[in-house]
Amino acid sequence: MAQASKNSRVTSATQKFFCSCGGEVKMKTLFENGKVKNIAECEKCKRLERRPSDFK
Ligand SMILES: [Zn+2]
Repeated sequence: MAQASKNSRVTSATQKFFCSCGGEVKMKTLFENGKVKNIAECEKCKRLERRPSDFK
């Protein structure tokens, strides 16, 4: 009986988030006052949140 490789488990480094409108949330990098800032934006309704997990 064939066994699945122990390495076959996929590590979810790129987790997907979806907005309540159904659009996909993409991470964006902004530069503000010389600082790098990561924000999450919905592709569809352009809603902005500080983190992707805020889209709920
Ligand atoms: Zn949205």
